[in-house]
Amino acid sequence: MTPELEDALRKDFAPMYANLTWGFACEDGWEPIIRKLSKNIAGITNTVEVDCVKSKWAGLRFYFEIDRTSLNESEYERIYEAIDKLVESACDLAEETCERCGKKAVGVSDGGWVQTLCAVHLGKQTDAVS
Ligand SMILES: [Zn+2]
Repeated sequence: MTPELEDALRKDFAPMYANLTWGFACEDGWEPIIRKLSKNIAGITNTVEVDCVKSKWAGLRFYFEIDRTSLNESEYERIYEAIDKLVESACDLAEETCERCGKKAVGVSDGGWVQTLCAVHLGKQTDAVS
């Protein structure tokens, strides 16, 4: 992801991404999905720490932890389930969204790095490979 978008996410949703060591390891087309997910999570709790956000096998991966020091067991479970559901729907959306430009995806590239892409970027990638 371009540094400007990455910095904005880190700043807008601090401290959610304070320990995101490897940054947002996907392209800019998924930034709106990650931004919306972050916003939804921030609306539920401020105790989430995200360890990893990346593109892998054409899918979005989003790993998080919840600081449970101030939560009892049932609060923790309720928050965990709510966030888990948000992450799941964000990942579903990413599967239909071009990772490069955010337009509707039509397929997955099959050469080298596997990515979910729109018709235009799927075409370009094929050209680059051949
Ligand atoms: Zn595209």
